[in-house]
Amino acid sequence: MHVKQGAPLNPLEHQLAYPWSEIPAAGTAFTLRPGLHWLRMSPPFALDHINLWLLDDEIDGPHGKIRGFTAIDCGITSEATMAAWERLFDTFFAGKPLLRVIATHFHPDHVGLAHWLTRGGKQHRWRAPLWMSAAEYGYARFMSADADDSRGDSQVKHFRRHGLTDAESLAKLRTRGTGYYRSLVPAVPAAYRRISDGEQFDIGARRFRAIVGHGHSVEHVSLYCESDRLLVSGDMVLPRISTNVAVYDLEPDADPLPRYLRSLDRYLPLPADTLVLPSHGKPFTGLHTRVMQQHQHHAARLAEVLAACSTPRSAADIVPVLFKRELDLHQLTFALGESLAHLHALWHEGRLQRLRGADESIRFVVADAARA
Ligand SMILES: [Zn+2]
Repeated sequence: MHVKQGAPLNPLEHQLAYPWSEIPAAGTAFTLRPGLHWLRMSPPFALDHINLWLLDDEIDGPHGKIRGFTAIDCGITSEATMAAWERLFDTFFAGKPLLRVIATHFHPDHVGLAHWLTRGGKQHRWRAPLWMSAAEYGYARFMSADADDSRGDSQVKHFRRHGLTDAESLAKLRTRGTGYYRSLVPAVPAAYRRISDGEQFDIGARRFRAIVGHGHSVEHVSLYCESDRLLVSGDMVLPRISTNVAVYDLEPDADPLPRYLRSLDRYLPLPADTLVLPSHGKPFTGLHTRVMQQHQHHAARLAEVLAACSTPRSAADIVPVLFKRELDLHQLTFALGESLAHLHALWHEGRLQRLRGADESIRFVVADAARA
C-alpha cells in the first residue's frame, strides 16, 4: 500500500537541490529549522524508510501553556519503530508530551502506529488527538478492522483478470493479501479530528494550510506553511521515485492517474524555492521542476502504453513496457496496479477499448477509428 519499488528512479534528479546531505539515524531527530525536526524510520521487512516530521507545538493547559510536539506521520506498527520512538521519548522529548498526531493518509507506514503514539507509547504517557482527512480516516478504520479473509481472494481475482496467471505468484498473493494491512495497522484511534481541504491551523509558531490531493490515496493531506515556504508533501511529491498511482481490487474501474496529475498542479502556485519535505528521500527544493517531471514522465508512459495496445494487451503485458527490470512479487503488484492506472487513463479518455474475455480476463486495445 505504500509507495514503492515499482517506480523507476528519477534520472532528472540532478535538477533538484538537497540542502542537507546528512540523514537522521533511527531513534534520533535532526533539526532542520528551529522547531522543525526530521525523523526517519526503517521498517524491518524492506530496505526502505519513511520520513516523519516533528514540530514544536503548544496548547493551553489548566496552568498555562503546555509545550510539546506535533508528529506528522507515524511509521508502521513494529517493534523496531516502537523502539525508535521510545528512544526519542527518553532523549529528544525531554519529558515533553506529544500533543497531536497528523497522518497524511491511510497507508500503513503513515498511520500504522497512530493508535500507539496517541496513547503515549508503552507507558501510556499522554492522550493526543489524531488529525486526518475524513476519507483517509475511514479507509484506515475499515482496512484495519477488516477481518474478512476473502480480501486475499479478491486481490487474486483482480490480478488474474489482468493477466497474472502464474499459480505460485497467485498463491503468494492470496496469503499476503489476507490480513496484510491489519498486520501493520492493528488498530486505529476510535475518534479523530477532521482536516479539510484549504483549512488553516497553527502548529507552534507556524501556520499551515491543508492541500488535499488524489490519485495516490483517497484524500491525501499535504501541509503548506507560507511564512516558512515549507511543504510537507507526504507521498504526493517525492524526489527520487515517482509516486505510486495504481488501480486495486477495491475500486476496479478507478481512474487515478488524471486525478493525481490534476492534484499535482495545485502545488504550482507555491513559491519556486519552497522546501519540500517528502515521505521518502531527502528534503529538497525544485518543486515546480519535480511536478513538471512527473507530468512528462506520465505523458511518455501513456504514449508507450497506447502504442503497445495496437493489439489487445492485458495489464500484465504492459508491465515490461513500463518496467524494464526484474521485479519481485511485491514490486510486481505495484507494477501491475501502475500499468492498469495508465491503461485506465486511456480507456476513460476513449482512446482505448476494454475487452472482456469469456474467462473474465480483461485486455485493452486502441479504440477503432469508426468508434472514435
Ligand atoms: Zn502512500
